[in-house]
Formats: sequence, C-alpha cells, structure tokens
Amino acid sequence: MTSTNALSRLLAERDWLLADGATGTQLFNMGLSSGDAPELWNADHPDRIHRLYSDAVNAGSDLFLTNTFGGNASRLKLHDAQDRVFELNRLAAEIGRDVADAAGRPVIVAGSMGPTGDIMVPMGTLTHESAVEMFHEQAEGLKAGGADVLWSETISAPEELKAASEAAKLADMPWCCTMSFDTAGRTMMGLTSAALTALAARLAQKPLAFGANCGVGSSDLLRTVLGFGDSDIPIIAKGNAGIPKYHDGHIHYDGTPELMADYACLARDAGATIIGGCCGTTPAHLVQMRAALELRPRGPKPSLDQIAEKLGGFSSESDGTDGAGPAPRVTRRRSRA
Ligand SMILES: [Zn+2]
Repeated sequence: MTSTNALSRLLAERDWLLADGATGTQLFNMGLSSGDAPELWNADHPDRIHRLYSDAVNAGSDLFLTNTFGGNASRLKLHDAQDRVFELNRLAAEIGRDVADAAGRPVIVAGSMGPTGDIMVPMGTLTHESAVEMFHEQAEGLKAGGADVLWSETISAPEELKAASEAAKLADMPWCCTMSFDTAGRTMMGLTSAALTALAARLAQKPLAFGANCGVGSSDLLRTVLGFGDSDIPIIAKGNAGIPKYHDGHIHYDGTPELMADYACLARDAGATIIGGCCGTTPAHLVQMRAALELRPRGPKPSLDQIAEKLGGFSSESDGTDGAGPAPRVTRRRSRA
C-alpha cells in the first residue's frame, strides 16, 4: 500500500484510529427537521457544520465524515437541489478541511457518500453507468473541497458498492467503504460479512479500509466484524449507540457512553482498526471511547458469548456466514447515518 495519502500514513503509524459518531443525530439536535436535506446546511449554516466536525475532533476523533451522506443527485432531487451536487459537496469538504487543519494533530476528512436511494438493475431501474456518474459527480466536489479520502457508507447492494469504487477511481481518490448489515446479519440485499471481504479485494478501486456501519446494535456489528475474517485490508467498525427506541416523538438510542467504550475495545479486539459510532453516538460517547482505547490493553478476540454478555444479545441467531439466514428482501429505504 502506498503512503501518499494522509489516511494511509496515519494507518501506518497507529494501530487504531477513532472515527466520528452520528451525523444525523447531532444535526437533529441542532435543529434540523426530519425531511430537510442536511446537505443544504453546508451552504446555509456553515457554522453548524463547523461545530458538528469540531465537536467530533474535540472529543478525540482522528477522522470524521463530511455532511454529504445524501449529497448525490438522486437524493438531492427530492429537495430540488440536484443541480447543486458539486457545490454542496465542495462546501462540506472545505469546512472539514478548515477544522482538520486547525486540529494541531493529523485528522482525516472523509468525504461521505451514502446510497443513491434507488435500486439498481436488474431488480431496479438505476443503471451501473448512471450510478457511477452520480457518485463521480459527488466525488469531484469532495475532492475539490479538500477531502483526504472518499467514504461510501450504509451501502446494502454490492452493485452500488462497485459503482462507488469506480467513481473513486475516476476521481483518482483513495476510498473506504462500509456496508450496513441490518437484516439478520446480512445487508438488506443479502450480502454477508464474509462476502464483503471477498468483494473488497476485487473492486475497481481497492478500499484503504472496509467494514460495517449502522445496522442493528453494537453486538450485531461486532459479530459482523468477526465475520469479515482475515483480511489484509484494515477493518472499519461504526456501530450504533445501542438500539433505537421511539420515545416522546423522537428516536432515542439507549447505548450509554460506558457501553460504547466497551464496544470500542471489543471492536479492536475483534480485529477492527478504524473504530467509531453511528446513529446515536454523540461526542460524550466518543470521549469515553477514546479514553478506553488509550487506557485499556488490547485483549484476545472476543467470543460471541463475551460480546453478548457485555453489550447485549444479537438480533438473529445466525449472521449468514454459516450459510443460514433469510433470503434477501427488496424494499426502498431512506436510512441516514
Ligand atoms: Zn447509523
């Protein structure tokens, strides 16, 4: 692996990196309404996006994702902003660059690229060429704004992952990817963790790191990390802070900072190198995760029983890596990291 980019250099120096937490959760706390496009805030409320990134860096994150999860033409079209893809992505990365460069230590700006929200052929209508074009447009905006690396996340279809990797190659940018294993240990489109390990090695742009984000709870996410098996590519673990619960008109995550500290150390023991949170993970969680990773010694690879004992049980008996599990289901989903 070359060390010509900032993330490769950091990965060569350190044996774990702390990523960031939730974007959506934090923006909702700053007043974003569900149904609004968070990406518009890159132009309308740059101060809030600056705070979003700074809060993660001040909590100890070595890497944070830009506010561009839904910044592709297909998603922005829902807000009549499909002509602003380049601008909104460039702005998000520029704000990120400012925050990272002021951190006083190496901090990576990772250009988030979430799913298009469309189903790809043959089951849906989005062609490979269109998907590559959409991700490439977004990638060029992130690159122009100074992102260190592109970061596809919450992907469920292998076809979409392939399109994103081709876009990264076209943009000549290093790239990382995570899929969401939220359906009995598989992605919504049926991919197992072991299948992603095999896929990652043959993508057009080989990822600098790959892994899992979001999904069900922190226990499931760690079972997924174990399921990746041996890989020469660093593994990413970005699990939700517990399980979402609907409470008083909003979604609340029940994972405490202490639980996420346990999760972070177990993720490292399970083989993850880049460790962060997803939905429900606040700076308060990140502070405890950082402290735990710095203070607690590395341990042996945890068993599923040990994970369940510390973090709670699993959402399904099998994660599909043993050949069991449900058939893929096809639904539209608008999940946001
Ligand atoms: Zn999430």
